[in-house]
Amino acid sequence: MTTIKRVLVANRGEIALRIIRACHEEGMEAVAVYSEVDRLLPHVRAADAAVALGPAPAAQSYLDAAKLLAAARDTGCQAVHPGYGFLSERAPFAEAVTEAGLAFVGPSAAAIRAMGDKTEARRRMQQAGVPIVPGTTRPLADHTQARPEAARLGYPVLLKAVAGGGGKGMRLVQTETELEPAFEMAQSEAQHAFGAGEVYLEKYLERPRHIEIQVLGDSFGRVVALGERECSIQRRHQKLIEEAPSLAVTPALRRRLGDAATAAAGAVGYLSAGTIEFLLAPTGEFFFLEMNTRLQVEHPVTELVYGVDIVREQLRVATGQPLRVHAGTLQPRGHAIECRITAEDPFNDFLPVTGVVQHLRVPGGPGVRWDAGFETGNEVTLHYDSLIAKLIAWGETRGVALERMRRALRELVIVGIPTSQPFHLRVMDDAEFQRGDLDITYLDRAGTRLLSGEGRPDLTRPIAVVAALLADERRAAAPPPAPPDRPAVLASAWLLAARREAVGGNG
Ligand code: ADP
Repeated sequence: MTTIKRVLVANRGEIALRIIRACHEEGMEAVAVYSEVDRLLPHVRAADAAVALGPAPAAQSYLDAAKLLAAARDTGCQAVHPGYGFLSERAPFAEAVTEAGLAFVGPSAAAIRAMGDKTEARRRMQQAGVPIVPGTTRPLADHTQARPEAARLGYPVLLKAVAGGGGKGMRLVQTETELEPAFEMAQSEAQHAFGAGEVYLEKYLERPRHIEIQVLGDSFGRVVALGERECSIQRRHQKLIEEAPSLAVTPALRRRLGDAATAAAGAVGYLSAGTIEFLLAPTGEFFFLEMNTRLQVEHPVTELVYGVDIVREQLRVATGQPLRVHAGTLQPRGHAIECRITAEDPFNDFLPVTGVVQHLRVPGGPGVRWDAGFETGNEVTLHYDSLIAKLIAWGETRGVALERMRRALRELVIVGIPTSQPFHLRVMDDAEFQRGDLDITYLDRAGTRLLSGEGRPDLTRPIAVVAALLADERRAAAPPPAPPDRPAVLASAWLLAARREAVGGNG
């Protein structure tokens, strides 16, 4: 048993706040980190201490392992939670954390390494008897080596980066003549994104669903599967909306997927939370796609239908305690949907946008969960991903969850920057989505249809709300002594100053 009193949360935004909340519920303290541009974000204030990492670029802040380890040491942490993205799937970081005598809240470096190499992961899955997407299990030297393999699989095929992630280094190849240029493109994109240009081939499956299984493992060798998430609502291979359970998964299929996922995780001695992604073909066959060896963005939908706090389980496992959940008793209850609210303009090809959140009205009420990294007054910059918040709705049935999501999306007001909100509303109103007739091509097909028509949403109402609020603030501000017109921001600056003292000048 390892005693963990303080956890360094090596991340930012919504996931940092999510982890801080779990630490507090587990009776642990949390130390936040932040880059210059993030100093006013809510995760910084929610933590028991906060350490400044330096300039905004990730390489000089959230990706700087040495700074993070120094922060953990200087603030007396016993553990590091990496969240998702940044250093969460970098085996050398997990190693450095354990070598520094700290607990890494995640799997072993060996498991991260094995699953981070997609061809090695495919070989391991084959050995464990888990079906993989047809394709090669070794990197390809050049396009001449790819040619016979592609012919064997039959076009279309997909070139993928061995070190892949975030859809980078992935190229669809429809015909043999496209192979050579696509190979070069995939290689150079992979080299650029991951510093490793190796690519391999997979058969391109026609209109599968993306179904993933949440797993949790403990140091007693137990691996539990927490059912599936339906993640077929993607735009350019990136998830936008997730649900649990999937309409396509029967209890029998859930058991088979769960068995495959626990076999996959067991094959690398998996510890903590992880996700096994599968493609489910229209025939009902499923194939291992990859394993994400970390907490997933969309974990809340699973939490809501299984009544399990995945982050608290991770923290517990990191102390060496057994999982609280038991495989035999796990049944999904009701239905949950998550919409990723991103700072992207859906009416301008989802172009990432920046700006200040001038006003935010957060939805609430029955069955609604809001996991956000931003508040009124915060600035969205171009330095990191575009996720502002996750809006999650739960209901006894999919229909109720959908109605709640629609209601919550209508309550939500974000003024100052365009977001994906109006797009989500249109998806909720779409008959095809409502029927649950989904596959990974749904959004790419339906996107144009959903975004055409009336065009931009009518902002008259939200703008009127803000105008009224500002008028209220002004009324309250007079006569002097005037309170600050943005109290939240100033209060946080004040608190930060106090915290800089608390962490020994490191802030
Ligand atoms: P990354 O790790 O870069 O996100 P994944 O392997 O997880 O890449 O795939 C991302 C998405 O790309 C999948 O959810 C799916 O929509 C699509 N995809 C990946 N492999 C295939 C395939 N063999 N056939 C069809 N679609 C695929």
